[in-house]
Amino acid sequence: MLATHILAQVEPQRLLKATEGIVNGAFSITITRSEKDSLEGFVKNGDGIEYAVAITPARTFCSCKDSMFRHSVCKHSVALVLLAIRNQHPERKEETAPNLKLGKMRRNWQAAA
Ligand SMILES: [Zn+2]
Repeated sequence: MLATHILAQVEPQRLLKATEGIVNGAFSITITRSEKDSLEGFVKNGDGIEYAVAITPARTFCSCKDSMFRHSVCKHSVALVLLAIRNQHPERKEETAPNLKLGKMRRNWQAAA
């Protein structure tokens, strides 16, 4: 599994920072893809800088300097993984789906040619 692989690789200090970022609400995280062998999203840190993260079995990518220069698993990747794990649990309330039905319809309406 992707998540356990990342959590096994990351250094303790980065694991701590990622956990703090999530728990303190400093990170704002958007998951854009969550599949068995692919996890992608954006992680915005406390300074408002947003980083793109993409995790596959072959590679852990993040656009931050820590990841790009040191080629290590950074706190953003870990934060994304941790959030994905938390989202798997059903006790968290799902948002209700938006109502996509048309409420009103105009008769005899035509689009301009
Ligand atoms: Zn990063």
